Parts: sequence; structure tokens; C-alpha cells
Amino acid sequence: MSKNTIELLIVVPFFNEEEVLPEFHKRISTVVKKIGACFEIVYVNDGSTDATLAMVKSWAVKEEAISIVDLSRNFGKEIALTAGIDHAKGNYVVVIDADLQDPPELISEMYEKMVTSDYEVIYGKRTKRDGETWVKKASAHLFYRLINAISETVIPEDTGDFRILSRRAVTALSKLREQHRFMKGLFAWIGFKQGELLYHRDARYAGETKWQYGKLFGLAVEGITSFSFFPLKLATYLGSIVALFSFMYGGYIIVDTVVFGNDVAGYPSLMVVTLFLGAVQLLAIGIMGSYVGRMFDESKHRPLYFVNEYIVKNDRK
Ligand code: UDP
Ligand code: MG
Repeated sequence: MSKNTIELLIVVPFFNEEEVLPEFHKRISTVVKKIGACFEIVYVNDGSTDATLAMVKSWAVKEEAISIVDLSRNFGKEIALTAGIDHAKGNYVVVIDADLQDPPELISEMYEKMVTSDYEVIYGKRTKRDGETWVKKASAHLFYRLINAISETVIPEDTGDFRILSRRAVTALSKLREQHRFMKGLFAWIGFKQGELLYHRDARYAGETKWQYGKLFGLAVEGITSFSFFPLKLATYLGSIVALFSFMYGGYIIVDTVVFGNDVAGYPSLMVVTLFLGAVQLLAIGIMGSYVGRMFDESKHRPLYFVNEYIVKNDRK
């Protein structure tokens, strides 16, 4: 193996992380130097508006093992991650958050486990999450249970994006070009032998989470509609149940009218049935709409992102 062949490549997407990145860079550099393999860090700038990019650029001038993918705007973490993986060379690729919630020190253990086994992916599984509200923890818990109950792809619970991938897994992943990218699902979808490494998730080192609940809810819907047809089926189930009840109620009304005569009451029941049916239909149309919208997006075949600038040392492979 020549000294320019990268063994371990670290993908770090970042969006306005000037408060954390210097500490992150310090810690990750210490870790990878200790591992001793030829490494490179790919920093992906996801449209930051603060000084983070300038900072990383100044490091790249001095240090050999840094490359930068500067995206043309903020595309969101899932796409920034994809851009990083697309530009990742090397035999093993690690994906890690910049905010130090995923401890970089774990990489040496991940790498060790990877090279001494036949796993193609090893993902970090959180045993404990610090510095996060119980609402976030509870909703995350619920989400994983829900998506695994209704999706055919098994998505490991309590797992973030933090993981190490073999070249084979990276190649497989880079073939999935869908617009709506729920990365945790895509990582699982590619298959291959995947293992877990338990870890304690720290609180954010500094700065604020970039995910508001609204966006998280969006991501959850994204995950469910990308990996499951269940909501569509739900519309059918619901429709069938309502139809059954309507049928029974219809039968009752007929019998009632025939046997006891019609005294023209029934305005409230009529109203209730009409409103209920209207609601069920709207719900079903809404569910269908979200799938049609996805089809619309995919059919445009747009590139996932544009790169403003790619800074890389060309003699490294
Ligand atoms: N991030 C990004 N683009 C975005 C939002 C976040 O690249 O639009 C990066 C962010 O800088 C961090 C990682 O994704 O490195 C995780 O983000 P964050 O910590 O805000 O998410 P959380 O840990 O709260 O889920
Ligand atoms: Mg975080």
C-alpha cells in the first residue's frame, strides 16, 4: 500500500458549527493519528453562513489530510452526507456529526472491529443520550418502533448516522440516488453484514441543534413514506371499515323504516355520518397526496446537490 492510499476517510457534514469545529478537529485529529492509518477528513460545508468554512479552509492550507466539499447552498444534512460519501476515497469511510455528540474516540474501536471482522458496516448504537429533552427521546423511541412495525427494511433502533462503512458498502450506497433521502433507512436498505457498537451519546459540545421539532417531524414522515406503503394501506383499511359500518347502518335504516315506518327524524345521524365520511376521504386523499408529491419530486431527476468548490490534494487516492 503506497503512502498516498487512504485507508480511513472521515466524512463530516457541517452547518454553522464555528463554536464546535475547532474542538472537533482537535479531537478527531488526535484519534486518527493514534490509529496510525493513512487518513483524510472530508469536511462538507452545507451552506454555512458563519465563519466555519473560512476556518476549515485555513486548516486545509496547513494540513495534508483535509479536503473540503463546499455545497452551493444549504441542502440539509441527509444530502450533505451524501455529497461527502460521493467524494470519499479510501478503504473505510466513517460518517460522524461535527457537534461532538458522537465521540470521535470511538472511531478507533469501530475501525479495529471493522478490520478484524467481515462486517461491511458497523453503526454506533446509543445506550444513553445526554442533553436532550425527554420529548425528543420519547418521540425518537416511538418513531423507531413505528417505522419498524410498518416498514420492510429493518432500521436499527437508537442509531444515528455515526458509523463506519467498507468500500463495498459505500459503492452500494452511492448507487441510491433518490431525492428523498432518509439516510438511516438507506444505510439499512443496502444490506450486507452489519454490526453494532454501543456507545453513550454525549450532549452537544456547543452551539444549537439544527433540528427543530417541525423538521424532525418532517424527517419522520420522510422515513415512513420512503420505506413503507403502510399509510396507503391504512386508507384502504379505514375505508373498508367505514364501508362495513355504513352498510350495516344502511341495513338497519331500511329495516327500521320498513317495520316501524319513517317519522322523518335522523338529521343528527345524517350529519355525523356525512362529516365522518368527509373526514375519512380527506385523510385518504392527503395520504395519497404525499406519495404523489414524492413521485413528482423523483420524476424531475434533479441532481441531488451542486458543489461550489472542491478542495482536495490530488495525489491522494
Ligand atoms: N447539519 C448539516 N446541515 C443541516 C443541519 C445540520 O450539515 O442542514 C450537520 C450539523 O452541523 C451536525 C450534524 O449535521 O454536524 C447533526 O446536526 P445537529 O447536531 O444539529 O442534529 P441533532 O444531533 O440535534 O440531531
Ligand atoms: Mg447533534
